[in-house]
Amino acid sequence: MSAKYIFVTGGVTSSLGKGIIAASLAKLLQARGYSVTIQKLDPYINVDPGTLNPYEHGECYVTEDGAETDLDLGHYERFLNTPTSQANNVTTGKIYQHVINQERQGAFLGKTVQVIPHITDEIKRRIKLLGETGQFEIIITEIGGTVGDIESLPYIEAVRQLKWELKEEDALVIHLTLLPYLNSSKELKTKPTQHSVKMLLESGVQPDILVCRTEHSISKEMRKKIALFCNVDSNAVIEALDVPTIYDVPLMMLKEKLDKTVLSKMKLSTKNEPDLESWKNFLVRHKNPKHEVRIGLVGKYVELPDAYKSIIEAFIHAGATNEARVRLQYIHSELIADDNVAQKLGDLDGILVAPGFGDRGIEGKITAIKYARENQVPFFGICLGMQMAVIEFARNVIGWKDAHSTEMNAKTKHPVIDMMPDQKKITAKGGTMRLGAYVCELNKESKAYKAYGSSKVTERHRHRFEFNNKFLADFEQAGLVVSGTNPDTKLAEIVELKNHPYFLAVQFHPEYRSTVLNPHPLFIRFVKAAVAFSQS
Ligand code: GLN
Repeated sequence: MSAKYIFVTGGVTSSLGKGIIAASLAKLLQARGYSVTIQKLDPYINVDPGTLNPYEHGECYVTEDGAETDLDLGHYERFLNTPTSQANNVTTGKIYQHVINQERQGAFLGKTVQVIPHITDEIKRRIKLLGETGQFEIIITEIGGTVGDIESLPYIEAVRQLKWELKEEDALVIHLTLLPYLNSSKELKTKPTQHSVKMLLESGVQPDILVCRTEHSISKEMRKKIALFCNVDSNAVIEALDVPTIYDVPLMMLKEKLDKTVLSKMKLSTKNEPDLESWKNFLVRHKNPKHEVRIGLVGKYVELPDAYKSIIEAFIHAGATNEARVRLQYIHSELIADDNVAQKLGDLDGILVAPGFGDRGIEGKITAIKYARENQVPFFGICLGMQMAVIEFARNVIGWKDAHSTEMNAKTKHPVIDMMPDQKKITAKGGTMRLGAYVCELNKESKAYKAYGSSKVTERHRHRFEFNNKFLADFEQAGLVVSGTNPDTKLAEIVELKNHPYFLAVQFHPEYRSTVLNPHPLFIRFVKAAVAFSQS
């Protein structure tokens, strides 16, 4: 059987949550026994978001196979509990790069290379690639941007062509739209939705299902009206109300029968009721916490929480496991100094120092780590957070006042964090970091081993610098334990302190692997330590 393709487009405004709707539908179909994957098509010209400042586009998510991707892929994995890959995120940059490389190879000799058919052919190839693996029965493709954007036109055209090429029941378009509520007249308005559907129609695409974001319930009459004006069945007008957590959305879509409507339009069986037992259990734990902890997220992008999306979600998963509400306090590392650190961090039950690049705000991170170490506050450092923990220890415990990372100070006599040797030859910035999953072996006496319950784990990476093993003996003598190491390269992956209730920092990004059904063990342990601290 050939795969079925579902396209999710967005209208009226951005930020309606296409990614969450796509992930929720995928969850429901998966819970009914279908094998599903989700793909994101991003209309920007960067080849990937790896070189984007997080302020631009939020977090850069990293897959097992080392793709630097849009943060929506994080939602896909967290909902589906299955890994995505390079093929799940395609950008205009990738499409053009491929077509232009082919042109240089002579693949189109004699021909003018054009948006239609060459660019649209390449878009279609990338969409069908996932179906052709034979691994999935249903491919959901989310088209980034909003209908009407100039840059997303080739994608909409590719959807039009695919809808025309594939059998009617093999391709389906879900359009996510907004019904604004006018407070003065106390009514929902359908006109923007009508206009955005019209815009899709101008490109030759008739949506099959409309998912309407709304702050108020849609009446039966209004559903009929939307259906009539937009040429869809009235049971294909789906209401998407605001809900307390994104993890409620699959259940809300189940109530609205989005999955059933999709399956019947695609002529797929609706016989198996969705098995959402463990999902619901998670929600019960999440919504009925017995404890509450305050955890400080110390970083330099805290004005835009999307920059730390996976970390924030990992705390929700680990909080539920611990039956604890994690109240994250976003703390700007640039504003932390010796004379205010106690006041800024004094009421926290745990401190997380976030990943990052460059030297802005790093001294504040180091001060926060010193505070956590000296005051026995549970501490968790991630990537740059680990590197800063190593520097803090070198400066304040070993006594090397000039200890630094060569990322920030190339001339220090104590380069305790240094560039990985194979990185030194690289000058290009795109996709050249140490990326993706690597094995890490754990020391059996460590907190990390206790958390994972296994001596060999795999974790995802995104960095250029590393712990400098030249100084390993000095650190170990002074009490910093390297408890996780890459077996092939001997790179230090985890460091921890012995005489501290929970002080652990990792070179990798555990947050990328935390899912609803598989909360990350290191986040679970950290929250557990914070709960204990809050009760001490
Ligand atoms: N800037 C550091 C490095 O490249 C840390 C990167 C990160 O936190 N992701 O090694």
